[in-house]
Amino acid sequence: MTELLYDIAIIGGGPVGAALALALRDSGLQICVLEARAEHVASQDARALALSYGSRLLLQRLNVWNELHDVSPIRTIHISQQKSFGRAVLQAAQLDVPELGYVLPYPALQDALALAIAGAGEVRTYYGARVTELRGETDRAVIRYQPTDTGLIGAHDGERSVHARLAVVADGGRLLAALHPPEVRDYGQSALITHITCSAPNAHTAYERFTPQGPLALLPFKDGYELVWTAPHQTAQEMLAWDDARFLRELQRHFGDRVGEFLSAGKRSCFALGLKRAPQQSPQPHIVLLGNAAQTLHPVAGQGFNLGLRDAWELAQEIIAAAPQTLGTPAMLDAYRKQRRTDREAGIRFTDGLVRLFSNDMPLLSAGRAAALTALDCLPFAKKFVAKRMMFGANG
Ligand SMILES: Cc1cc2nc3c(=O)[nH]c(=O)nc-3n(C[C@H](O)[C@H](O)[C@H](O)COP(=O)(O)OP(=O)(O)OC[C@H]3O[C@@H](n4cnc5c(N)ncnc54)[C@H](O)[C@@H]3O)c2cc1C
Repeated sequence: MTELLYDIAIIGGGPVGAALALALRDSGLQICVLEARAEHVASQDARALALSYGSRLLLQRLNVWNELHDVSPIRTIHISQQKSFGRAVLQAAQLDVPELGYVLPYPALQDALALAIAGAGEVRTYYGARVTELRGETDRAVIRYQPTDTGLIGAHDGERSVHARLAVVADGGRLLAALHPPEVRDYGQSALITHITCSAPNAHTAYERFTPQGPLALLPFKDGYELVWTAPHQTAQEMLAWDDARFLRELQRHFGDRVGEFLSAGKRSCFALGLKRAPQQSPQPHIVLLGNAAQTLHPVAGQGFNLGLRDAWELAQEIIAAAPQTLGTPAMLDAYRKQRRTDREAGIRFTDGLVRLFSNDMPLLSAGRAAALTALDCLPFAKKFVAKRMMFGANG
C-alpha cells in the first residue's frame, strides 16, 4: 500500500473542491485532489447553474472566468406567484452592477476548473479515485481510496492511501453522511430540469414563479431557457413520462404566456431535493466539510454553488494564513467556521424560508406573499438588500 503525505487533500473535484484547489495553487503547499470520476470522461450532469455576480468576481480571481464560454447573462429577475397578484422585478441597472448573474451548464464549469488545475501544475489530481474511508488522527487525516482503473476485484484489492494535515471533504455529502449525519429536511419535492425554447423569449431575463406544488424557474440560456420545475416526487416522475406535447401544454398552463408559446423541450432529468446541513463541528480532527458536503440547499434561489464557492475562497484564505503545523487543528478549523457562520446560516435560512413560505396555497399566506412581493418591488432599499444578499451573501 503506497502512502503519501500532503498538506491538503481535497476529496471530490466537483466545482467547489476544484475551486479550493485553484485558490491554493500558489500557496507553496502540497495539495492533491481525489476525484471518483475518470479523467477525460465528460460529466453527464444535466444541471445548469445560475452564478451570482459575486461568484463571477471570485472566478475572475481564480483566472477561470475568461475560460468559460457557454455563459448567458441575467440582467433582470422577474418574481411572481401563481394565481395571485403581486410581483417583483430586480434589474441590474437599478442595483449598480452590470449583471445580476450568469447561467451555464454544470459540466462547462467543472471542465474549466479541471483544465485550470491541470495547467497550474502545482496540484496533483488523482482521477478515478473513489475515497472509501477517512479517519482523523492527532496530527493528520488518513484517507483510503479505491482506484477504479486497477482492474482488480475485491474489497481491499488495489486500495491506496494518502495522509494529509487537512482533509477537505467536498464530495457532495456522501462519504461522511453515516458517521456524521446531517440534519435533513425533506421537502417532498423533486426538480425536473430541461432546456426549452419558446416563441417570445425575453433576453437576459430570468423568471422565478412560486406555485403551490413548488417553485418553477426559467433561466435564460442560448436560444431559450433552462427550466427547473419542482413538484412532489410522484408528480415529477409522471412529468418525466409525459410526451413532449403534453409536457409543453402543462408547462404553459403552469407558467402562463410571459415568454409566448413553449415550442420544444430537451431531454428531461430529475433530482430529489431537500435541505441537508452537516453539524458545525468537524467530525474528527484534521477534517473539514465543504460545499454540498457541508450544506445541500434547495435550488429555489440558486444559492448552493454560490455559497460553496464563498466557503472555498474563505477556507483557502484561512489555510494560507495558517502556519503549516497548525493546518487542520481545532483552533484553525474553529476560526474558519466562525468566519463562515453568518453567511452559511443566512443562506440556509433564506432558501429554506422561501420554500416553506411559498410552497402552499393557504389563502392568508398567499395574500401576505403578494403584499411582500409588491413591497419588495416598490421599496428600493428592500430590493438592494435582497439582491445584495443573493449576489454576495451575508458577509458581502
Ligand atoms: C436541479 C439543481 C439545480 C441547481 N441550481 C443551482 C444554481 O442555479 N445555482 C447554484 O449556486 N447552485 C445550484 N445547485 C446546487 C449546486 O449544484 C451544488 O451546490 C454544487 O454542485 C455543489 O458542488 P460540490 O462540488 O460541493 O458538490 P458536487 O457538485 O456534488 O461534486 C462532488 C464531486 O465529488 C466527487 N465524489 C463523490 N464521491 C466521491 C468519493 N467518494 N471520492 C472521490 N470523489 C467523490 C463527485 O464525482 C463530484 O465530482 C443546483 C442543484 C440542483 C440539484
